[in-house]
Amino acid sequence: MDCIFCKIVNGIIKSDIVYEDDKVVAFKDINPVAPVHVLIVPKKHIESAMDLNGEDFNIIGHIFSVAKKLSKDLGIDKDGFRIVNNCGRAGGQTVMHIHFHLLGGRDMQWPPG
Ligand code: 5GP
Repeated sequence: MDCIFCKIVNGIIKSDIVYEDDKVVAFKDINPVAPVHVLIVPKKHIESAMDLNGEDFNIIGHIFSVAKKLSKDLGIDKDGFRIVNNCGRAGGQTVMHIHFHLLGGRDMQWPPG
């Protein structure tokens, strides 16, 4: 298993987990770019948004429900927040296990870099 997020999901690499259930794990990004920066990751290894098929799309809906819950738990629901998925090289994806960044605690800029 060469995937860093699979290793986090399986507890082989330690991370600061803020939420876990049977489908997903959410943990603090090792290199945060906002006061709140959490990664929400499916336990199933799916490389990117381009590799989603069939039932996988239910996991994505679940990830958004987890993001909503975490926004309240982490106190960023009132001011607002950003959910980001980088897809592929040009999209800025560096870890090839699909994940969603939950970013908050500061005003975001647009357009992103
Ligand atoms: P991407 O650029 O693929 O959208 O985002 C990957 C994210 O994973 C980056 O923000 C990076 O800081 C984070 N990351 C990479 N390796 C680790 C790790 O071992 N632990 C944690 N907690 N985050 C990681």
